[in-house]
Amino acid sequence: MKVLLADDDAFFRLSLRKALCRWGYEVVLASDGTEAWDILQGIDPPRLVILDWMMPGMNGVDICRRIRAQMTDTYSYVILITSKNEKDDVITALDAEADDYVGKPFDIHELRARLQSGLRIINLQSSLALKQRELCHQATHDSLTGIWNRQAILDILERETAAARAARKPLSAAIVDIDDFKRVNDTFGHVIGDGVLRETVLTMQSALRHFDHIGRYGGEEFVIVMPGVRKGQGLKIAERVRQRVAGHAFDSLPGREKVTLSIGIASDRGAGDPGLLLRSADEALYRAKTRGRNRVEPAAAPLPRERREGRRRLV
Ligand code: GH3
Ligand code: MG
Ligand code: MG
Repeated sequence: MKVLLADDDAFFRLSLRKALCRWGYEVVLASDGTEAWDILQGIDPPRLVILDWMMPGMNGVDICRRIRAQMTDTYSYVILITSKNEKDDVITALDAEADDYVGKPFDIHELRARLQSGLRIINLQSSLALKQRELCHQATHDSLTGIWNRQAILDILERETAAARAARKPLSAAIVDIDDFKRVNDTFGHVIGDGVLRETVLTMQSALRHFDHIGRYGGEEFVIVMPGVRKGQGLKIAERVRQRVAGHAFDSLPGREKVTLSIGIASDRGAGDPGLLLRSADEALYRAKTRGRNRVEPAAAPLPRERREGRRRLV
């Protein structure tokens, strides 16, 4: 574990460094407050921080306040070391949100124990942050295919529609449905059906641009959000997705059979209404199904340029 040791007293710095190295820490030294702050702003900075209170450049309490003001998701454990030992000084240090306070002169064994407490807090915070990231991923992704889940893709559609409206840029959205998927399940079973869903997603992704968003709308239906895309280009992208899947020999299917998609696509020209966009794409999908499947259909009528009323939430 890296420790930042900031003190303007060279003798103190070097003797404490010796002890810290002996205890197994990797020590980063700073001889004034400005240098300490620069180190903390660098890449992968030490998260255990020992700061002398009185230093040229910036004092330890000010550095501590700045660390707390940054609100990063990695925690820095700050120990202030100083010869100031008045009760008011302790209060000032804790008010600046220092984690601990050690008065000079101090017992080296006591500092070692206090650093170990800091290490425990940092490890605890790291595992909580990791758990939080995992939960956030689970809450927004489909566990079978790994793409956005229904709520997340609808949120993205809402956000992108608002952004497109504000920037006066086009936006297209498609609903994709696997054809005759029930037959895949009925013939080969659900486990193979799951594999086909995964492989379909990978194949669709290979035909999308990296800034398009794809999510699982439900069952064997998907929503694709294409920012900056007008009707003509949207039709081309949807057609590329359809052809890529139709031409793919599925590893997950015995006999490497083919799978086809029906796609309905709608484009927004400033209406800023995600619900209307999705309903139009759904209506086009219905037409793609009734006209024989394995095809892309555009929404029948272009959406109005401005639609101030009648906006509704998607879910
Ligand atoms: P169409 O061409 O009209 O879309 O016909 P279809 O058979 O694809 O449509 P239908 O809605 O009748 O069937 C969809 C099937 O998708 C039924 C359901 O069991 C299956 N399904 C939904 N979610 C999953 C899943 O997570 N895994 C598997 N294996 N099957 C699923
Ligand atoms: Mg369906
Ligand atoms: Mg289907």
